[in-house]
Amino acid sequence: MAKEIKKPSFDLNDKVAIVTGGTKGIGYAIASTFAMYGCNVVITSRTPADCERISKAIETLYGVKCLGISADSSMKENIDMVVAKTVETFGKIDILVNNAGISGKTANLLEQTEENFMKVINTNLKGCFLFAKAVAAQMVKQGKGGKIVNIASVGGLIGGKSVAPYGASKAGVLSLTKTMANEWARYGITVNAVCPGYVVTELNQDIFANPDIKAKMEKRTAVRRLGCVEEIAGPVLAMVSDCFSYMTGTYILLDGGQTIGG
Ligand code: NDP
Repeated sequence: MAKEIKKPSFDLNDKVAIVTGGTKGIGYAIASTFAMYGCNVVITSRTPADCERISKAIETLYGVKCLGISADSSMKENIDMVVAKTVETFGKIDILVNNAGISGKTANLLEQTEENFMKVINTNLKGCFLFAKAVAAQMVKQGKGGKIVNIASVGGLIGGKSVAPYGASKAGVLSLTKTMANEWARYGITVNAVCPGYVVTELNQDIFANPDIKAKMEKRTAVRRLGCVEEIAGPVLAMVSDCFSYMTGTYILLDGGQTIGG
């Protein structure tokens, strides 16, 4: 008799996820995709009206419970408040997606200001550290493990010009991902990252509105096009499902072949 192979499941029924920066772009797509698979979601952003509007839309569209909380991911008090409100509302946290991020002002290193550098680091790197720390402490208390996905970037792998704070913050996220995975494996918590390439969102729509720049970026990818938010959200869904139970401390590259030379 051949061994029976378990059917992979992406089901997130009865799970609770926090998706930071879940009101727009990639975060909104991830929160919506989780909701499609039955997950109750908490979305955050710095804009209260967006939190209210988008959480209502997700509830209406997918029939799950969605809590929108206005919170700045670079501020510890805000992060602790989100974790406390999530536990108060749902009684637990199963999944965290550290997605909130900013690109900061582009400038050569000699023109980079300390203010811009720290703003990007505080949002993208410090926010990722503090959110994961607060959520992991809750997961340890619950005793049933959990899944953390950090949204890094190709920028954290290849560096580049004029984007030093962004690249440094995302390289830091990749490093943190490995340490978190090492230290929290004993609690059944897996921690992984994704590195998207060019994905059209509000973060970069001004840049891609320029047809010359858009064509240049497209030419840099093997698939000769920019990515869309669903192409990040689908893989993240798989990463927080049971299918990825043996993966931790690494990343998935979703860049249309940008880093293989285009
Ligand atoms: P968007 O600008 O479209 O959305 C960013 C989201 O994060 C918004 O909901 C925004 O809401 C929120 N946010 C920003 N700063 C904070 C903060 N300090 N506290 C809480 N929420 C915040 O960006 P994308 O969807 O493009 O990017 C999402 C992630 O993906 C980022 O980490 C980005 O670095 C990464 N990424 C994106 C790529 C791309 O090409 N788009 C490529 C590689 C990585 P609000 O402004 O209202 O606070």
